[in-house]
Amino acid sequence: MEKLYLVIPCYNEEAVLEETKKRLKEKMESLIKNKKISKDSKVVFVNDGSKDKTWEMIVKFHEEDSLFSGINLSRNRGHQNALLAGLMTVYPSADMVISMDADLQDDINVIDQFIDEYYAGNDIVYGVRSSRKTDTFFKRNTALMFYRMMEKMGVQIIYNHADYRLMSKRALEALSHFKEVNLFLRGMVPLLGFPYSVVEYERAERFAGESKYPLKKMLSFAFDGITSFCVKPIRFILFLGLFLFFCSLIILIYSLIRYFQGEVILGWTSLMVSIWALGGLQLFAIGVIGEYIGKIYMESKERPRFIIERYLEEKED
Ligand code: UDP
Ligand code: MG
Repeated sequence: MEKLYLVIPCYNEEAVLEETKKRLKEKMESLIKNKKISKDSKVVFVNDGSKDKTWEMIVKFHEEDSLFSGINLSRNRGHQNALLAGLMTVYPSADMVISMDADLQDDINVIDQFIDEYYAGNDIVYGVRSSRKTDTFFKRNTALMFYRMMEKMGVQIIYNHADYRLMSKRALEALSHFKEVNLFLRGMVPLLGFPYSVVEYERAERFAGESKYPLKKMLSFAFDGITSFCVKPIRFILFLGLFLFFCSLIILIYSLIRYFQGEVILGWTSLMVSIWALGGLQLFAIGVIGEYIGKIYMESKERPRFIIERYLEEKED
């Protein structure tokens, strides 16, 4: 029987943790009883620098029950980094790892199917939301737009898949060789290859606490997703620049003709317009390029993507 680890990033989740712990314990016990997973399987909470009692609760869970374990990051690094910290810390001792959110919006009853797919020989099992009924109108549509845009830009991404997925040990081992700092896990995992399958589920509403993904974080996540995966925006600007260059040639010919016709004063309007239009475009282009240079800058530093303050795996004396 294979060992399963659940990895759950938590940021200010004291309102949901107690319930999450209860439900996960039931789930894990039934999986163990049905001989689907080994009894050494664990639930590992990753505390992403929470400001509330989250870490104290995790420590308590661990002391009460060896099923639970925890990783404390030295400060808040964001969902993706917290998730990666968890995955990279646990995979050497696990056979398969499932990542999910602390608010249990992802239906934990499909874990059985995840494991079946794993035993059927799949290294990666993506949890895909069958509908977005519980999302607000705004979130549903912006998310849809985001997936469409990623697709158009040629980033391979699983439609409506968030970070609820199972990965085998060897898939995680392969992921550990991806050294990038700008993390966008749902874009990185498909790059690994390996046999995979998809399991659909209904996403529930968060049962307590608030979303830790306000609009600002969501937008920056989407933006990072695009710029860390493709250089198409740069290429687009290159072509735009070329196109404008040809346009300006036509305008040059046009203004020369007007000049020889003796109507030079007329030029003022078009001059003003083109100065503004080109100035704007240039700034825009520099901004896009700057974005990529910024990424290169961050990557070239090779800073650690997370720092673990404490891992509850080692038994205390
Ligand atoms: N999260 C985290 N660090 C952060 C923000 C969020 O570890 O800086 C965790 C959070 O605790 C939760 C998961 O990421 O387990 C997803 O966040 P949330 O449920 O708030 O996002 P939503 O479901 O609203 O998109
Ligand atoms: Mg949530």
